[in-house]
Amino acid sequence: MPGILTGGGPERRGDVSEGYDGVVVGGGHNGLTAAAYLARAGLRTLVLERREIVGGACVTEEIAPGVRASTTSYIASMLRPEVIRDLRLADHGLRMVPCEPGLQVPFPDGEILPWWTEPERTAAEIERLSAADARAFVELDVRLKRLARYLQPFFLEPPPDVGARGLRGLRELGRVGRRLRGITGDEVGDLVRFLTGSLRELLDRHFESENVKTLFVANNVYGMHGAPSRPGTALGLLFHLLSGGQDESQGFFGHVIGGMGAITEAMASAARGFGAEIRTGAPVAAIDVVDGRARGVTLEDGTEIRGRAVLSNADPKRTFLGLVDKRELPEGFGADVAAIRMDGPCAKVNFVLAEEPRVSAMPADADPARRALFTLLPSAEFADRCYETAMRGEIPERLWVDCVVASNVDPTLAPTGTHVMTCFVQYVPYRPAEGTWDQRRDLLGDRVLAGIAEYAPNVPGAVVARQVLTPLDLERTYGLTEGNIFHGDLSIDQLFFMRPVPGWARYRTPVDGLYLCGAGAHPGGGVTGAPGFNAARVVIGDLRWWGRRR
Ligand SMILES: Cc1cc2nc3c(=O)[nH]c(=O)nc-3n(C[C@H](O)[C@H](O)[C@H](O)COP(=O)(O)OP(=O)(O)OC[C@H]3O[C@@H](n4cnc5c(N)ncnc54)[C@H](O)[C@@H]3O)c2cc1C
Repeated sequence: MPGILTGGGPERRGDVSEGYDGVVVGGGHNGLTAAAYLARAGLRTLVLERREIVGGACVTEEIAPGVRASTTSYIASMLRPEVIRDLRLADHGLRMVPCEPGLQVPFPDGEILPWWTEPERTAAEIERLSAADARAFVELDVRLKRLARYLQPFFLEPPPDVGARGLRGLRELGRVGRRLRGITGDEVGDLVRFLTGSLRELLDRHFESENVKTLFVANNVYGMHGAPSRPGTALGLLFHLLSGGQDESQGFFGHVIGGMGAITEAMASAARGFGAEIRTGAPVAAIDVVDGRARGVTLEDGTEIRGRAVLSNADPKRTFLGLVDKRELPEGFGADVAAIRMDGPCAKVNFVLAEEPRVSAMPADADPARRALFTLLPSAEFADRCYETAMRGEIPERLWVDCVVASNVDPTLAPTGTHVMTCFVQYVPYRPAEGTWDQRRDLLGDRVLAGIAEYAPNVPGAVVARQVLTPLDLERTYGLTEGNIFHGDLSIDQLFFMRPVPGWARYRTPVDGLYLCGAGAHPGGGVTGAPGFNAARVVIGDLRWWGRRR
């Protein structure tokens, strides 16, 4: 029955102060992170998730009877170690095992290149192709890791406030200066190149072997709009070298035991442990704004819920173009939000297999962990072509496919003898030029399978079940507007103080009391917990300030 909820107490129309302190719209991993920190700070916190399960794009779901898979995100790489520690996620069941190798690419010429955690070990593999490239790999690895260390602190704090003036402006300048203390002139040049340059140019400058260049491309342009020859695509190199995992290792890639949903289950359990309330099957229809201030939300069933602060984990378009009355937004803001680039360009195909994929190029002595992942990307040039095809609205004949046979390292997902292979796919259009995604879903699944068969011929005959998630499915099922996995492309013009839109990059929004806490805010997408962590800090500060003023 619709009513007014005021924070655990009797239902009544009431003063805002009687409600929750924080109402979080969406129980993705960032919403849960924010909720856990709010509750830990003693604030009455409620999470409202539209689906029947929490986790957003970080979930484990049954894809066939008795078989579970990380249906969307599938590798934990950038989950902030501070979040893991503060929320004691290990005590709530989170267990990750490093991917070793972190990535590997089989090539049409029968070569296979793994990227091991130890740079020297990867260099030894590259040595077979080019001694010069092996040396260049180790040198570039050192340079990249050093640069990533400068960027890393910006992840768990708001982006630089370029609008700050006077004393505040000086403080901001000091903060940025401290973060970049010790940076040399050469490193500044490198940083600008990595943040703005094209990956192809960078690789052409350092390497001669096409296979080595392709290995880098395979590691660094995930989910981004833009083929490797486009400016801004070198950025991924730095993002992937941020530290991650319990031990804060740089460039960490981890399998999560129980699938990615184990992260969000642990987060939900931690949040509840601190006193947060979490409701699933509770879609929010509107964020209620009175006198320019967010006062709570109204659910689709008409229930009104009061809150002193509303944190939206939904993406910026869904939040501002879908949940907030446009009359409450300043002129031009809606247009800025509508202009955020986020159409596609990824899909996911998840398979249940009766036998393990046998990749022809895999060495005979490869252990199950090594056999657990392979990326199908024949060349860097292929990536460019694939992108251009998708941008014309077509589904490329052959796709860039990242395969993870999670059951090789995690026996909890499927009965013995059954295998789970998840396949991240790019590039695909958000809007097909012909027909609809509902009509073309099977075509996509068939093309992914045909591509895999070229490298692992036993796979088509082993398929027991498959789930194809097109960009439209990512939008409809997981609430990702335009199917964008990052709530907005990770391009330099949409990052740092430009995310989600210039002028509103520090979690607060033009509506007082309304905050963004998801991947659409700084520092962006991926399972990091960082936007949720940062937003919670801002909200806690603001609520204390409001509390003192009352
Ligand atoms: C196919 C795919 C593969 C990926 N692979 C990886 C990977 O391997 N590693 C990695 O680090 N990242 C990966 N990502 C990216 C990463 O998963 C996301 O960027 C991240 O999970 C976003 O988290 P979030 O909490 O900010 O938002 P979301 O996970 O999108 O959560 C938002 C939540 O809000 C809910 N919601 C929206 N509107 C409402 C409403 N009106 N009322 C109530 N609830 C609402 C949604 O249902 C959802 O649960 C992948 C993503 C996808 C889709």
